[in-house]
Amino acid sequence: MAQVIYLNGKYVSKEDATVSVYDHGFLYGDGIFEGIRLYNGNIFKCKEHLDRLYDSAKSIMLEIPISQEEMQQVLVETIRKNELANGYIRLVVSRGPGDLGLDPRRSPKANIIIIVEQLSIYPEEAYINGLKTVSVSTRRNVPDALNPKIKSLNYLNNILVKIQANLAGVGEAIMLNSQGYVAEGSSDNIFIIKRGVVFTPPCYCGALEGITRAAIIEICEKVGYKVKEEPFTLHDVYVADEVFFTGTAAEVIAVREVDARTIGEGKAGPITTHLLKEFRKLVDIDGVKINE
Ligand code: PMP
Repeated sequence: MAQVIYLNGKYVSKEDATVSVYDHGFLYGDGIFEGIRLYNGNIFKCKEHLDRLYDSAKSIMLEIPISQEEMQQVLVETIRKNELANGYIRLVVSRGPGDLGLDPRRSPKANIIIIVEQLSIYPEEAYINGLKTVSVSTRRNVPDALNPKIKSLNYLNNILVKIQANLAGVGEAIMLNSQGYVAEGSSDNIFIIKRGVVFTPPCYCGALEGITRAAIIEICEKVGYKVKEEPFTLHDVYVADEVFFTGTAAEVIAVREVDARTIGEGKAGPITTHLLKEFRKLVDIDGVKINE
């Protein structure tokens, strides 16, 4: 089955899925996106992703030319056309073609793109043994510049983190905010566990309002772990009993080492493992089914 890409109301091949070099998404990172998972024909947390997309659009005054209901329909249709039951979906809305100036009024027509792909994720071994990570010097965007709550196409900040992670030979890194508090990973939220209590930075510390993050907080409350959204530092990460990242692609992945400090037993700890198990129970239930 050849891959089918949704582009502004049309279903086209990968080769034909092209946009103008004058698109402000390309020229300036002016646009928004979502990364969504499909599990056994279920678009996991579909509404939450679309809500975040439309909130990001409102915040940057980008008019998405179709309603949220229509967006859900084309999402379902694009997945069906790709005949995949499991995969990763990238939904992009760019400001659209304009001229070389910044003024978004010259880009009156947004581009909508939906890409459905097979997923390449961490090997199962990584969920058991955990990841090695480092903290990096690149700081999270501040909320009064580019607010981290906006899932914008401007990911240069995160790419610089990824470059630092690559140079250190690790797959994910920890980013601080400009006050020195832990914000998140390059593209994942972070949690730490100390004496049975689960901590994650509040969004005002520079964390994206991650959908997996919210799901984990809910699971913790349901299964009886105390969760605190409060600022913490690298010291707290170093001395935590367990550390893990959450994200649509990564799900719940343990961290075994941070800046050469071994975390806990140096592998996925019991609470992380429990949370991953509970999370995976939800993924093909909570969402929108493509065949209903
Ligand atoms: N932070 C950033 C910067 C991200 O790009 C993402 C998405 N991969 C996350 C956190 C995790 O968010 P979610 O659980 O909604 O995928």
